[in-house]
Amino acid sequence: MSQVQWDAVDRYLGDLLIAPDPALDAALADSAAAGLPAINVSPMQGKFLHLLARIRGATNILEIGTLGGYSTIWLARALPPNGTLVTLESEPGHAAVARANIERAGLTHRVELRLGRAIDTLPQLATEGRGPFDLVFIDADKPSTPDYFRWALRLTRTGSVIVVDNVIRNGAVADAASDDERVRGIQEFLKRAAAEPRVTTTAIQTVGAKGYDGFAIALVTSDG
Ligand code: SAM
Repeated sequence: MSQVQWDAVDRYLGDLLIAPDPALDAALADSAAAGLPAINVSPMQGKFLHLLARIRGATNILEIGTLGGYSTIWLARALPPNGTLVTLESEPGHAAVARANIERAGLTHRVELRLGRAIDTLPQLATEGRGPFDLVFIDADKPSTPDYFRWALRLTRTGSVIVVDNVIRNGAVADAASDDERVRGIQEFLKRAAAEPRVTTTAIQTVGAKGYDGFAIALVTSDG
């Protein structure tokens, strides 16, 4: 198995299962043109998040890590007409591209983008009494994932879903001796999720256009 094959299968699945979408395509094109790194979720992963939000019946979504707004658009489109999504981004350049992409997708009325380090904006959300969120998507700086998980727990309730991206990291997650701070952040998050009585968690390995990685999903089973 190789990246070439994973790319080909993702293309095959995408052609079959995802209709051409000018707003999503333009979001990726403009992100690339603006020099943003191509670290957005893939189309198949974006649709997975979208379906998960719909299955959950989410009306209030929190995303940590916006980039150019690609996953934001997938998630915001899963909301009912009165639904809202808050997305947190620390890079002004990324936020500017995301705002334009979200506007072109016709979602500005549903999406609030907060500029700043998530470790600062998350407490603000709590202070303002925002939430509880039905779905939280954690996809920002990986060393801070344990902190974001802690905030996600504070900002959710029984039945909420917490998704964490990039938890496999080419298999490095199983390397107990890793000195990569991103791997260590994910390992610490998984350890805390396993020990946390308020959630039940799984993690799934994936291959595809984004290589060999995976995501964790935690279901909040009791209120804090
Ligand atoms: N979720 C996006 C998608 O799939 O389209 C991709 C997000 S990208 C993997 C991670 C983003 O998190 C980057 O845009 C980065 O600037 C942002 N980020 C990094 N550190 C952050 C922090 N401390 N607070 C908020 N955002 C941060």
